[in-house]
Amino acid sequence: MLKKILSPGSCAECRLCCVFDRYDVWETPVFTEETMLRIKEAVPGAGFVRKGEGYISTVGELNDEQLFSCPALTPKGCMLGDDKPFDCRIWPYRIMEVGGRRSITIASICPELYSRPLSQLVEMLKEGLAETIFRYADSHPEIVKPYYEGYPVLMFGKE
Ligand code: SF4
Repeated sequence: MLKKILSPGSCAECRLCCVFDRYDVWETPVFTEETMLRIKEAVPGAGFVRKGEGYISTVGELNDEQLFSCPALTPKGCMLGDDKPFDCRIWPYRIMEVGGRRSITIASICPELYSRPLSQLVEMLKEGLAETIFRYADSHPEIVKPYYEGYPVLMFGKE
């Protein structure tokens, strides 16, 4: 979805968004039943719990040094290809609940996009991406995360 401004090459090298520490483990993506089953078939040890109509990975307690890799991550990249979860397709944009309103924020951890001017990031949203994100969240509210400090708010949804 962000191929226009995120180069596949830099994403393939980076993979920051597929590995989580104890502070951003809440960022793990919400899978559909179909993708969850696909991962379980390839990685039988992968655990999932229900979140709304979707599924998220079960992650045990992590200490400060431990990292959790998404079970869909392989040495060659994401095994889901074009069927990645919506969360991953819009990364590093996030949809969060800010003061009772849905809002699109951006994760500062993405070095490729966060270095762009804010105006470019907002422009991309105005070109139809924001509408897609808000519409998807209406039918899949489980993807909406609680607001997390440090994520700049780029756009509020309609009240
Ligand atoms: S589903 Fe794929 S793109 Fe998304 S976090 Fe997992 S490995 Fe990364």
